[in-house]
Amino acid sequence: MRNMVIIGSGPAGLTAAVYAARANLFPLLIEGKEPGGQLTLTTLVENYPGFAEGIMGPQLMDEMRKQAMRFGAEIVKGFVHAVKLKEHPFRVYYGDDEVVTKSVVISTGSSAKLIGIESEMQLMGHGVSTCATCDGFFFRGKEIAVVGGGDSAMEEAIFLTKFATKVSVIHRRDTLRASKIMQDRAFANPKILFVWNTVVEDVLGARQAGVSGLRLRNVKTQELSELNVDGLFVAIGHNPNTEIFRGQIQLDDRGYIKTQPNSTRTHIPGVFACGDVQDPVFRQAITAAGTGCMAAMEAEKWLEH
Ligand code: NAP
Repeated sequence: MRNMVIIGSGPAGLTAAVYAARANLFPLLIEGKEPGGQLTLTTLVENYPGFAEGIMGPQLMDEMRKQAMRFGAEIVKGFVHAVKLKEHPFRVYYGDDEVVTKSVVISTGSSAKLIGIESEMQLMGHGVSTCATCDGFFFRGKEIAVVGGGDSAMEEAIFLTKFATKVSVIHRRDTLRASKIMQDRAFANPKILFVWNTVVEDVLGARQAGVSGLRLRNVKTQELSELNVDGLFVAIGHNPNTEIFRGQIQLDDRGYIKTQPNSTRTHIPGVFACGDVQDPVFRQAITAAGTGCMAAMEAEKWLEH
């Protein structure tokens, strides 16, 4: 019988592991498909407090992992494919293993939706990004493109005009999905221009040199063209990783886990959720780490009582 099983190894899960381990709960953390989470897809992280010169995303996650292990957290590779949260103690299944536990911390994160072309993945972190807040700063004085037509794409495009000289929004239709107010702001911004009815067929460039351009296709005319840009931001939405919890835990209409106000408590006593899996708004490493800390402290209190 475990005191605590933590599902997911991004900043939320690893911070929960550090706190739980220091509270002598000997937590078991199951890493998931993408050990370290979304930060392992970025290069330099400049906005995580404590690193004046910035730190590489994978290194930051490695440090958190070592920190959790130093205090006695057990970290195992594996993907949790099922959980039983309706009866206590809870059961968590990964690979061929079953773990029985008094409490569960869910930190499975979310995944940015991708266009799905090979060059996009190859150049991820090398000119292709899914996070303007994280990477916009690297494109000072450059021309970039944003893919998407929703609020996220407008928000990212507007934010990126602080750095870039020109931002091309590439959208697959000729009308935006974004709210009226976000549309108005984007249309009024002289640095933003729109490329309608268009999809990205290929990202041009190399990992060393970065992105040099995009190959585009007009979906109405099938005409191909090239657009010279130094960066591509993919802003076509996120999916919270909550499939295995569906039907057991309360989710909002977008699939994010519902937590109680100012808390990481879910509607099931003993089950806590932290990080991007319950946060469609901020989605930052530091906020994920913050809620990871909250989850461990709330779980510790709950176990005590
Ligand atoms: P979204 O509203 O689902 O919009 C996704 C956009 O990406 C759509 O325009 C969609 O095109 C496009 N898209 C999807 N898959 C694509 C693909 N494979 N290739 C090319 N384009 C693709 O997602 P979101 O913008 O992330 O917003 C999610 C939610 O958060 C929304 O409810 C939004 O209002 C909210 N949000 C609010 C704010 C704010 O108010 N400040 C900021 C960010 C997000 P189609 O339009 O053709 O489907």
